[in-house]
Amino acid sequence: MATNTENIFTFIDTYASADKEGLYLESVIDACNAWLSGEQLPELSTTVTKEDIRRGIQLAVLKGMKQQVQSHHQMTPDAIGMLIGHFAAKLVQGEEVVTLLDPAAGTGNLLFTVMNSIGDGVVASSVEIDEILVRLAAVSADLMEQPVHFFVQDALRPLLIDPVDMVVCDLPVGYYPDDENAVNFEMMAEEGHAFSHHLFIEQSMNHLKEGGYGIYLIPATLFESDQAGILHKYLKKNAIVRAVIQLPDSLFKNAVHEKSILILQKPSEQIVGTPDVLLTKVPNLSSKQAMSAFLQRFDEWIDE
Ligand code: SAM
Repeated sequence: MATNTENIFTFIDTYASADKEGLYLESVIDACNAWLSGEQLPELSTTVTKEDIRRGIQLAVLKGMKQQVQSHHQMTPDAIGMLIGHFAAKLVQGEEVVTLLDPAAGTGNLLFTVMNSIGDGVVASSVEIDEILVRLAAVSADLMEQPVHFFVQDALRPLLIDPVDMVVCDLPVGYYPDDENAVNFEMMAEEGHAFSHHLFIEQSMNHLKEGGYGIYLIPATLFESDQAGILHKYLKKNAIVRAVIQLPDSLFKNAVHEKSILILQKPSEQIVGTPDVLLTKVPNLSSKQAMSAFLQRFDEWIDE
């Protein structure tokens, strides 16, 4: 028997494939709206979970992205999203209400994975510049009944968002072309354009509450680039580096695209001294035993 996720994908795919003229991703949005309004429904065998819905939509979006979206709009892969979700849930455990921000939310796949991992009491803000991705994310949030405020804008411009408990972000990597705006940041480059991934870190730190955490998917070479000096200086002054977690090479087709996870904390008077930095490597994801030992070590580190 097909799972809920498969049935949701089949429903969206059948609906979207019937429209031979429009863009597939637009039709995915239409399919989700038809489901929301009750006009057409997927066949669901048991009580549907938020994760069933997220995964079903994700499969359709992946198919759509192969057809029309450029590589810089790539969704955060599920394996990485699940890991970040685990870290996020552990870092905010015991909190009744958690406010989250993803300043480069794309389809919302990473944000929803994290929200679903944290569970009840989480409210999020999502910023993204690409309008079609925002519409996709918004209809997904409605279907999952996840409370998310959406902002369609350049996330490096002023944000009307109150400080949050946690930021999660698969950082857009590259140069930020808007020098006029970039000069407002400490991490503006001395020469040429600033790195947008640096500015996203700075912008999100500005929107964190004291003691709040930022969890970022970063290029593995972040601390070795020609602008790394600016980053080191900024972090020393404005953040506490809590963890740098290397992801397994097997997740990336090419060494140039390798990523790590960086966990920062915004300084607060409650944090005395300088906590040790966790420097570790995620084992091969296909080894269940090694993965569960790794997650247990992470949890123990948080509980220390
Ligand atoms: N986590 C997302 C997901 O699961 O779909 C993927 C994020 S993708 C790596 C980075 C996103 O940042 C892209 O969707 C891109 O359009 C967006 N982006 C890049 N520069 C931006 C900017 N200045 N302001 C807002 N969004 C931006």
